[in-house]
Amino acid sequence: MCTGAVGVEHRHLVDLEQRVLACACGACATLFDREGACGGRFRTVPERYVGDPQWRPAPEAGKALAALDVRGGLAFFVRRCGAGQVLAVRPGPAGPVESEVEPGLWQAAFAGAAPARLLVDDVEALLLWSDTGRARCALVPLDAAFALLAALRPLWREPDGGPAARARVTAFLADLDRRAVPVPATARWGTPA
Ligand SMILES: [Zn+2]
Repeated sequence: MCTGAVGVEHRHLVDLEQRVLACACGACATLFDREGACGGRFRTVPERYVGDPQWRPAPEAGKALAALDVRGGLAFFVRRCGAGQVLAVRPGPAGPVESEVEPGLWQAAFAGAAPARLLVDDVEALLLWSDTGRARCALVPLDAAFALLAALRPLWREPDGGPAARARVTAFLADLDRRAVPVPATARWGTPA
């Protein structure tokens, strides 16, 4: 981005034109750290992880969740600013596999899931995974999502990832548990005041 030094620990920007992640120095990360409005080429990836252990998919969400085709028990969803287009990104042996998700399906699957409502377009990903048969979701930074998908690429064996990939996912989920903050009370539906 600039001539500023980038340390080992650094943040990332999304380049919305090239659709790539770029390393950012501290000054650039602050400069492009803005939420809300679409527009502008670069946006800083937030650092938050938000879990929602209370989420139970509504009975009518079951079909929608099944239709999202969570390969190997894991998928990320990214919403693009403006058009409201939702992309599913799944692990695969040739790298991440992207496909478009019908907005109605997305809404049906994640109705009542606070992390889905908090999701910031383009820079955060909603992770959906299966925990002993139960669907769970959390909000994770986009760079963390793609780092996991990159790590899974050489490990992945069809159809479900295989033991090495599953171990990597388990490690990611343990890290997520440590980092995740609960859903802010103000972001919940139907919470009595
Ligand atoms: Zn910079």
